[in-house]
Amino acid sequence: MTKSAIVSRTIPVSEEEEPPSSTMTNSEAKEEEPPSTGFASRRNRLFSHVSASDWNDWKWHFRNRITSVKELSRFIPLSDKEQSQLKLVTAKYPLAITPYYLSLINPDDPDDPIRKQAIPAIEEISMGSMGMEDPLEEKRDSVVPGLVHRYPDRVLMVLTDICPMLCRHCTRKREWHNGGWVRNDEEIEAMLDYIRRTPQVRDVIISGGDPLTLSTERLERVIARVRAIQHVEIIRIGTRFPVVLPQRIDAELCNMLSKYGPIWLNTHYNHYREITPESTRACDRLLRAGVPVNNQTVLLRGINDSVETQLKLSHALLKAKVRPYYLFQCDEVQGTEHLRTPVETGISIIEGMRGHTSGLAIPSFVIDLPSGGGKVPLQPDYILSHTKERLILRNYQGRIITFRNPGADSGNKLEMVPQVEEAIVNEDRALVRS
Ligand SMILES: *Cc1c(COP(=O)(O)O)cnc(C)c1O
Ligand code: SF4
Repeated sequence: MTKSAIVSRTIPVSEEEEPPSSTMTNSEAKEEEPPSTGFASRRNRLFSHVSASDWNDWKWHFRNRITSVKELSRFIPLSDKEQSQLKLVTAKYPLAITPYYLSLINPDDPDDPIRKQAIPAIEEISMGSMGMEDPLEEKRDSVVPGLVHRYPDRVLMVLTDICPMLCRHCTRKREWHNGGWVRNDEEIEAMLDYIRRTPQVRDVIISGGDPLTLSTERLERVIARVRAIQHVEIIRIGTRFPVVLPQRIDAELCNMLSKYGPIWLNTHYNHYREITPESTRACDRLLRAGVPVNNQTVLLRGINDSVETQLKLSHALLKAKVRPYYLFQCDEVQGTEHLRTPVETGISIIEGMRGHTSGLAIPSFVIDLPSGGGKVPLQPDYILSHTKERLILRNYQGRIITFRNPGADSGNKLEMVPQVEEAIVNEDRALVRS
């Protein structure tokens, strides 16, 4: 099925006409507190017995992830019907939530934006026929197992398929059932080998799953070997740990990373309520270790699909010194259709931000095209007319302004600004007259 067919079938016109912010008002009205206060220490009361040392230990959270509907129902009120529905969903797409992330959920709000990212919804299977299994066709661009070389100068290294939390909008959710692999030394050596003999690779992205599920020691073995390759200029790590389990960003990890810079880290905040004191501290530690943190958000229906929510997210990120990098159109993946928005939503969000706030706060809105087409940026259209001579542009307020296009032969007399041309003509006339 084509993308446009899906969009037109699943986005009723009435919803499209609603202002985008309407989907968020529920949770936001209840959310009186500023972004980075309070949420951290507000553990779900069922975790109140957990000692501080356990709570601050990322391995404790990992071991105690909530993975069954029965367990979940102890923390979040679920009716019998909901429970049996969710059991059906988790048979296809498993469930895993860290106690930390679960504690960010308001258990009494069915529209909570944190909840919708973590707790399964019946639509994952009831709308399950829509979308594709592997839209990005990463397998096609894999040069050796686990290494995707799609763009000329950078490669993506997939070290594991394990994640601390299973996000309901995940592009890789079809793989959750094959669960639990980590590339072995031999496989990693094959990836490194390819990078060694491919000198145009100057940027290596270590990703997953989530690569920080590996022990720091194991991760160091990989990073050290990548760093030893002369032509690799930068290393990037793609991880959601700062958001779903910030305790992972400990001194040991940061010390290790600081030895192999330049390392950049991309994380994945989708909502400003995820920016807690713990999470902010994690980003701060990374920065102090010389690791700049950028953010990649996925645009999600009913979670962050309004200008207002995106502005709050961006501003909270900048306060945490994290740069908004990409805003992704949600990929066309089976089991995520209910979370997808029409492309117009993303464009109008960017339009609502550009000019209204600092450029630093504005991510690039991109579609990661199916069939391995790569990322394509989408922009509001500010050009009303464009000729060799001039552009007619509109600014963020809707003012229309003409801009002279310098053009290739702008040194030529013909391209002189009209006032000068006029002055010369007048001078010539004066000469003729005298
Ligand atoms: C997203 C992606 C990259 C990195 O893209 P940037 O625009 O440089 O952040 C590299 N390889 C693959 C396969 C990707 O999907
Ligand atoms: S962290 Fe990324 S890869 Fe892991 S489940 Fe979430 S979206 Fe998927």
